[in-house]
Amino acid sequence: MGVRRWDSWTGRHQTDTAARHETGRGFFVSTEDDHVQRIAIPNKGRLSQAALDLFERAGLKAEFRADRALVARLGDAFQAIFVRAQDIPEFVADGAAEFGITGADLIEESNRPEVTELLDLGFGKCRLIVAVRDDSPVDTPEALPEGTRVATSFPGLARRYFESLGVPIRIVPVSGAAEIAPHIGVADVIVDLSSTGSTLRVNGLREVGTILHSSARLIGNADADGSELTPSLESVLRAEKKRYLMTNVPRDRLEEVREVLPGISGPTIVDILDQGRWVAAHAVVDEDKVHRTIARLKALGAEGILVTRIERLLP
Ligand code: AMP
Repeated sequence: MGVRRWDSWTGRHQTDTAARHETGRGFFVSTEDDHVQRIAIPNKGRLSQAALDLFERAGLKAEFRADRALVARLGDAFQAIFVRAQDIPEFVADGAAEFGITGADLIEESNRPEVTELLDLGFGKCRLIVAVRDDSPVDTPEALPEGTRVATSFPGLARRYFESLGVPIRIVPVSGAAEIAPHIGVADVIVDLSSTGSTLRVNGLREVGTILHSSARLIGNADADGSELTPSLESVLRAEKKRYLMTNVPRDRLEEVREVLPGISGPTIVDILDQGRWVAAHAVVDEDKVHRTIARLKALGAEGILVTRIERLLP
């Protein structure tokens, strides 16, 4: 019987001991029998670091074999491959990776039915918008004249959008820096991503319509077994918006404390070894309600208030 090993290059467990000698490449020894699933992660750009941070918080820290390696191990069950965000929907649809993380805009643009969205990861928020030159008389996309030239790296989404409005347009494909196109006469409008709108303003453009709201998504194909990964990432995302609050409160104010600290199913009340005048109350609180909750607890005579982050929260 050969040694079962996890090969970081093939991304699969192998039992053939001869193979490691043949390749002479590094490998991870693993006693796990699980099939290793691949996750395609953006190799650079806005989503890359946020995706790696999320995996780390979920206990899946990327282990690279070398600097600038294009594969990494993510725990025992997953292997990360680092590719361009634009290519990820195609790679997942074609089965090169079972899972992927990329923008909803790119998923929609790829229009591949083999890809299923498993989870909205909440970061990388932006919108795909239609913008005209500041000096244009147009205020809505519907008002654009027939034959309007649209510079975009999202030809599929732009075409479908203008078709749905009944406005015949011509696509001018660009792979970046669409903002310049209306100023150099190669297009009349642009369809591009925007988050704060500052790039548009700096480039003398004005937004006239939104095609799509986007954020980073976890996607999978038919072979993706999301039973472990999806709840794991979800528990981290859910926990981010919550805090765990602990406080000492006078026992005779408990009814009011229950109203201030509803928690998931009411606060946890713990005895304090003090003749029974005080108790400790613990509860999960929405991050954006922490300030108000503290003020209300103080008004009830609470002392020793402690607020901590939560790593994961499972309902
Ligand atoms: P990039 O940084 O060019 O690799 O962008 C990859 C993805 O990041 C895009 O497809 C969007 O899903 C997302 N994104 C988030 N905010 C923005 C923004 N302001 N401009 C462009 N892309 C953004």
